[in-house]
Amino acid sequence: METLSGNEIREDRYSRLRMIPWWDQSRIAACRVLVVGAGALGNEILKNLALLGFRQVVVVDLDRIETSNLSRTVLYRATDVGEQKASVAARAYRSLADDALVQPIAADIIHDCGLGVFEWADVILAGLDNREARLWINRAAWKVGRPWVDGAIEGINGIARVFLAGQAPCYECTLGEVDWAILERRMSCNLLAHRPDITGKVPTTPTISSIIAGIQVQEAVKLIHGLPTLAGRGFVFEGLNHTSYVVEYTENPDCMSHYTIPELVRLSESSAAWTVDGLWHRAQSDLGTAEVTLEFSRDVIWRLVCPRCGSQEELFKAVGSVLYEEGACSCDGQQRVVETIHGYTGSEAWGDRKLTELGLPLLDIIVARSAERELGYLPEGDREAVLGVVGAEGSTRA
Ligand SMILES: [Zn+2]
Ligand SMILES: [Zn+2]
Repeated sequence: METLSGNEIREDRYSRLRMIPWWDQSRIAACRVLVVGAGALGNEILKNLALLGFRQVVVVDLDRIETSNLSRTVLYRATDVGEQKASVAARAYRSLADDALVQPIAADIIHDCGLGVFEWADVILAGLDNREARLWINRAAWKVGRPWVDGAIEGINGIARVFLAGQAPCYECTLGEVDWAILERRMSCNLLAHRPDITGKVPTTPTISSIIAGIQVQEAVKLIHGLPTLAGRGFVFEGLNHTSYVVEYTENPDCMSHYTIPELVRLSESSAAWTVDGLWHRAQSDLGTAEVTLEFSRDVIWRLVCPRCGSQEELFKAVGSVLYEEGACSCDGQQRVVETIHGYTGSEAWGDRKLTELGLPLLDIIVARSAERELGYLPEGDREAVLGVVGAEGSTRA
């Protein structure tokens, strides 16, 4: 009979996991996980993470719990209906793993979360129901060099896939004409958003969500152990005949997602402490040249201009966060022209605005460019306001 070492013999919560030869519980405990979506997939993802011993988690979801969620969400009870999914999910996580730090963020992942939220994470797990959010996560993950694991379910079928930043094919590479047509339908031609249609009403079951979320979390575990994963590929499962196979994706050389911020500067101040012009001057000094452009993480609606009466209204709100209906002029009802900005070159009239007054989320990254070099500025003073309990922990990454 084999003799077990002291470490193996120790019977604790994770002793059966530790019996797997390559298993490293300390890697799991140290891993920071961002979970986007706390619906059918998100519940199963979070449940698995809690049981496996993941101890640093941020969960993002904008929605509130509805009665119809209860057939697919192990973390929610009937008494939770009407509450924020993110906060109830975080509470339930801690009831499964009472030493875990779990921060709920009740926000829209596209409009309300800065790139620093993605940068905080070692791995991103998504349980979403739309391409727009997946595309945004894909681009954000590439910018900050983080891997992400996608899951999608419909009926009793599903797919799990892994995308590594800096290593195509990525999610955007997988998109075909039909996907782009669906994506473009969500935005009107003048950049104002249509009221969300009845999304999120995909037929799903708790059985398929547990299968696909199981694969997703298992891929994340393998990823942090340096084991082979589904990187750039998808695991497809068809529940009717139990057919499963792996699809290979191919790189799209014209893909817009393939950009990683080469160098990050961690500002100790919060974004309220910086004006746009102040940051621009800092970037001039860091880059050693006057020829510097600042680039925002997303396009911002600077103002709405009425072509009929000429009235102008300054907005400073992210593109996509303003509804089409709000575009009408209050004087004459004319649909106004949307003027956007996506950066700063040193001469714009609004340069004295604080970074918090641009319509950009907290803990976002602004990229400064010169002809030779690029730097991303991350206002780490926002960490606690955004990341709460996990933001205070081990504030900087090597
Ligand atoms: Zn790509
Ligand atoms: Zn007007």
